[in-house]
Amino acid sequence: MKPTLYIIIPCYNEEKVLPITAPLFLEQLKVMQSEDLISLESKIMFVNDGSKDGTWKIIKELSSKNSSFIGITQSRNRGHQNAVLAGLMEAKDQCDITISIDCDGQDDISVMTQMVEEYQSGSEVVYGVRSSRKTDTFFKKVTAEGFYKFLNIMGAEVVFNHADYRLISARVLKEFANFKEVNLFLRGMIPLVGFKSSSVYYERYERIAGESHYPLSKMLALAIDGITSLSVKPLRLIASLGIAMSVLSIAGLIWAIFSKFLGSTTAGWASIVAAICLLSSIQLICIGIIGEYIGKIYLEVKNRPRYIISERTENNEKK
Ligand code: UDP
Ligand code: MG
Repeated sequence: MKPTLYIIIPCYNEEKVLPITAPLFLEQLKVMQSEDLISLESKIMFVNDGSKDGTWKIIKELSSKNSSFIGITQSRNRGHQNAVLAGLMEAKDQCDITISIDCDGQDDISVMTQMVEEYQSGSEVVYGVRSSRKTDTFFKKVTAEGFYKFLNIMGAEVVFNHADYRLISARVLKEFANFKEVNLFLRGMIPLVGFKSSSVYYERYERIAGESHYPLSKMLALAIDGITSLSVKPLRLIASLGIAMSVLSIAGLIWAIFSKFLGSTTAGWASIVAAICLLSSIQLICIGIIGEYIGKIYLEVKNRPRYIISERTENNEKK
């Protein structure tokens, strides 16, 4: 039986990009259908993430012209991760496999064929991994690769150089639906579901048009989110730091007592100020890290919806 594939594409202010990439996605869908890899019911699902430009209008036009295009829109901008989740959860009951991919043409669309073949040979999850970053600027390459290394050091295990281009079977998605957390870091959460997985490799291109929505500040925020969602290692590091500082303090105390008895206790103003500054800044960082976790708990406890779909394209209305 040929599987039904839903390609999930999050879009935020992409009116410049969509008219160029939508036909490319369609072409790839047709190629896979003609090769008998996927069923004719397969679709391309755009998730409009509360765009402020003409993105939703373009999606509606595409879907009225071709029934392979369908769309949902979020009630407001919720960010890339929530947009992908909305698409995956929407698709999981209608298809056998999903492939999530950005809409800007940076990820090699033709690799989807290989992903589906991997699925046919038994993988339930297939990660798209960037084999090189030739087109990235030096700064983007260093910060992006540093991002993966830092995550792994901090105990958040992620597949190196894999972003959100991946195939996930509906079976895995149904299990994944039980992961109810509000703080989303999909590339770290999907491996937790388990099942057989594999990787395919591709070159990453430059954005076709428009601008990246992921500057360094957002990448850092995503890294912090990823680490605090997946790992408690930073808390352990704080505890280790506390122990190390205590040992140092005891050594300092012994030194102070000795100095007193030796009679060399001229007031060391500079050393006291230095110690206070150092210790108080370390304490503030530690409180900040703990606060980050408490903030997470606060958001999780509220259990607010992770996405709200406000509209669907006509060919995608719920029966
Ligand atoms: N995106 C989204 N919501 C946002 C920001 C981005 O749905 O709030 C989408 C965007 O339209 C694109 C994908 O997420 O399809 C990746 O964004 P972008 O290309 O800007 O990131 P980069 O590839 O530069 O890391
Ligand atoms: Mg991009």
